[in-house]
This record gives sequence, structure tokens and C-alpha cells, in this order.
Amino acid sequence: MQAILDDITAKVTAMPDKGKVATYIPQLACVDPDQFGICVALPDGTVFSAGDAHTLFSIQSISKVFTTTMALGKLGDAIWKRVGREPSGDPFNSVVQLEMENGKPRNPFINAGAITVVDAIMMGHLPKETIAEILEFVRFIADDNTIAIDEKVAQSELLTGDRNASLAHFMASYGHFKNPVDYVLGAYFHHCSIAMTCEQLAKAALFLVSDGVNLSTGARVVSEQRARRINSLMMMCGHYDGSGEFAFRVGLPGKSGVGGGIMAVAPGKASISVWSPGLDRVGNSHLGTIALEMLTQRTGWSVFGH
Ligand code: GLU
Repeated sequence: MQAILDDITAKVTAMPDKGKVATYIPQLACVDPDQFGICVALPDGTVFSAGDAHTLFSIQSISKVFTTTMALGKLGDAIWKRVGREPSGDPFNSVVQLEMENGKPRNPFINAGAITVVDAIMMGHLPKETIAEILEFVRFIADDNTIAIDEKVAQSELLTGDRNASLAHFMASYGHFKNPVDYVLGAYFHHCSIAMTCEQLAKAALFLVSDGVNLSTGARVVSEQRARRINSLMMMCGHYDGSGEFAFRVGLPGKSGVGGGIMAVAPGKASISVWSPGLDRVGNSHLGTIALEMLTQRTGWSVFGH
């Protein structure tokens, strides 16, 4: 595995086209595009890493997998009354579908859906309490108490988050929100701003590899059925309007973020995280997707067959 990762890293870092770093969040525009990291974690917690796998980056939308997991734990299937589970086929911050579906977002991984999930898990608490709870959960599943929020990124998002604010107010206009919109947005921007390394992220995904249990720590995070369902959501909705392309090329459940990270799961085999800040046309890590494509070709880990 180490040889495979070293080889993939050498190949992708030599590619001239690294994609384009997200600029709509000013703090992300400052990230050096010339970085690439990859990590594979086996169910027992053994990790293999290459490149910049120990560099912290903004996990952005990958955090939506964690908040969705929390929402399932707190509300159970009642969460599906508030968000759907269909791919959107539209950009992650699109307003269009919300109007057609009376303010109910298509899935928990587009921005409107993730904002709704935060409202659902907030349950009358203050934003700082919700943020602390989310952070504690991420630390628990990754078995790492050093994981923290990058406050500069959070502030950068708050200052430039007009689109997300408009999504939230639009949904609130249907009477869907139970908490003040500003509270919900504050917690949303902060959980998107969690900073993690590839290694921390691969470990955080281990519960999705082994039917809801992180076998390296022995902790059951979710039921077997929920783990399977979270994986299915990642497969169908994890890569914005590039989810079909990702399934076609990589063949694994995965979730990407505009910070350039991708967290992927090969059920029963391994969790994988890659990071390279340059994005493709729809906002997924350009080199990260290529690297995952190479990895599944070499390992035969695609869920669709060897
Ligand atoms: N915090 C980002 C936003 O709301 C998340 C985007 C993403 O990673 O997809 O725009």
C-alpha cells in the first residue's frame, strides 16, 4: 500500500494542471495550490500516508457527513421530514430547487440541506454549544482531541456568506427553522471551518468502513443500517453535481469539500482521504479525484466490481 501511495503521489504531483483554488471564501484563496496528501486507514487503524498527509486543511463540506451522522443519532429518521435524500444535480449553493420543493432541501450535503441539519441538531442551544458538540463528536470518531476549528476561515465565511444567508432565510420563510437564522449560520460556518489532516480524516471515516463501528477504538458510532445509509448518501450526493462522474470514475462513497479534501470509504476494506486544494469545474479536488481513480484501479476497491 505504501508503494502504491508513493507512486500515485509522484504521478499526480507531476501533473501540470492542478485545478483552481476556491476564491469565494477569501481565506481559502490564500492556500498554496501546490500541495497534495493522501492517507489510507485500514479497519484496525493502521495508516499509510504520502505527500502532505499531515498538513491541516479546511474540511468544509466534508463536515456535513459528520453533522448528518449526529442528526440521525439525535432525531432518527425524523430528519428525513426536513431534508430529502436525492442527488440535486444543481450546484451546492443553488436556490432553485428550494422554491420548487417548498423550502425542503434535496439532501443533507448541499448547503441548504446542511444548514437545515444544523437547525435540527441545535435544539434551542447557543451556537457555541452546538459548535462544541460537533467538534467533540469529530474528535471522538477520529480519536484525536487536537482537532480544532480554524477561526480565520470561519470569520472569512461569515463575512462573505450572503448566498448561504439567503438560502437560510428563504427556508426560514417557510417556517421550517426552530432556531434564529443567525445562530444556525454561525454554527454552520464554524463546522465547515474545522481543520484536519488527511490522516485525521481517514481515521474519522473508519466507522463507515466497518458497519458503524470504529474497530481501532472499539467505539460503535452508528448502527449498521445507518452506516450503510450514510455511505449511500455519499455515493449519490457527495460530490455536488459531479456525483455521477465521481461514481463513474472512482466508484466509492465519498464526500468532497471546497477546501480540496475528499473523504472516501471502501466498505469493509479501508477509508481514504486525499487533499489537494485545486478544484475542478464543479468544485471537487482535481488531483484528489485523479488520485482516487488511480487507487481504486490498483486496489480493485470500487464498490461496483474489480
Ligand atoms: N462552507 C462552504 C459554503 O457554505 C462549504 C462549501 C463546500 O465545501 O461545498 O459555501
